[in-house]
Amino acid sequence: MISFSFLGEAYQTDRIIGHVKGDASGPVLVFFGGVHGNERSGVVALKRVFNYLAANNIRIRGEILGLAGNLEALQNNQRFMRHDLNRIWNREFQNADNGSNSPSQIEINNASEFEKTDQRELFQLITPFLQQGRECFFLDLHTTSSPSIPFIAINDQLTNRDFALKFPVPTVLGIEEYLEGTILSFLNDFGHVALAFEAGQHDSPDSIDSHEAFVFQAMEVAGLLPKEAISEQERYRLLLHEQGGRLHGLFEVFFRHALPSDAHEFKMNQGFSNFDKIEQAQVLAIDHTGEIHSPDSGHIFMPLYQDQGDDGFFLVKRIPRWALVVSRWLRGIRFDAALTWLPGVSRSKDYPEAIHVNKKIARFLSRQLFHLLGYRRKKETEAETLYVRREVKLPDHFSK
Ligand SMILES: [Zn+2]
Repeated sequence: MISFSFLGEAYQTDRIIGHVKGDASGPVLVFFGGVHGNERSGVVALKRVFNYLAANNIRIRGEILGLAGNLEALQNNQRFMRHDLNRIWNREFQNADNGSNSPSQIEINNASEFEKTDQRELFQLITPFLQQGRECFFLDLHTTSSPSIPFIAINDQLTNRDFALKFPVPTVLGIEEYLEGTILSFLNDFGHVALAFEAGQHDSPDSIDSHEAFVFQAMEVAGLLPKEAISEQERYRLLLHEQGGRLHGLFEVFFRHALPSDAHEFKMNQGFSNFDKIEQAQVLAIDHTGEIHSPDSGHIFMPLYQDQGDDGFFLVKRIPRWALVVSRWLRGIRFDAALTWLPGVSRSKDYPEAIHVNKKIARFLSRQLFHLLGYRRKKETEAETLYVRREVKLPDHFSK
């Protein structure tokens, strides 16, 4: 049991925030709160939801489990103690050859003792759901350092898209090309829907309401609750819609301003909210080299207004409707198979889900095309780019 305070109130939580089992034939919803310790709103919202379910004696179909992430960091109101708990979920395939990924083959890697304990305990608690053939949804509750409307972030798999689009908020694809070792990527590789819901700014009371609204909505969307079961349901739907509905749809990350290790004095210009529209060449931040201009027009995404973290900001663009239709179609017919007929494009010999693109010969192939086909950029050298199909997991030696 740990204690923490949030917005002047004291709270206590165990690793398991709540667990309700209903009819065993229904799906399983697993929520994470406080994977980043300074993002306490998700934990508070989950406590509220479990209290509500208990107080009103609500019967659910399926099962709902709420887990607290980085306990020590929650207590200290820090993002993490030694290692970011959302960057250490890399899998070791001890036996990649037989194509099996049973949890016993997974090694929890070498995080510090603090986060290692959290990771080990979380992993033990979710292991029973990973392979049992029940429909599972993993939903990770976060907040941001800048003010933000609520939004969803997913790895671009069609099942994730379908689930995410049921919520009246923007959904951002493609962030996984920039982040290694997130819980979501790890869980996606088991074939389950996994998404992050970012409710708003870290210390805003609205973030708790948005998180709570999302949790109830997710229970409804996944079929755990009949619509009429919760009188609050409509209010929650409206709350999310009011905040995020204007930007409902899919956005893709197309630019990241990374902070190099020798960067100093990086400072975002004040006043940006997540998803604010920006123009090409607009001044977004400064560092020791001077002003940092936007390379293109679009929407600003995750501007950094805190000390910990090494992404200055991202830029996102709305994905046009035709691209969504086309990408679904191209993925359905596995159009990617035809790509390897082109000069400079070859499928990896060891691993058929990876494609090598020689940058000199196949210059004309853009990253956008690979995104449409459901691939993500995994590695880039001067000579070639390695793309990997998002629906599957690459053995770890590929990323080294
Ligand atoms: Zn977070």
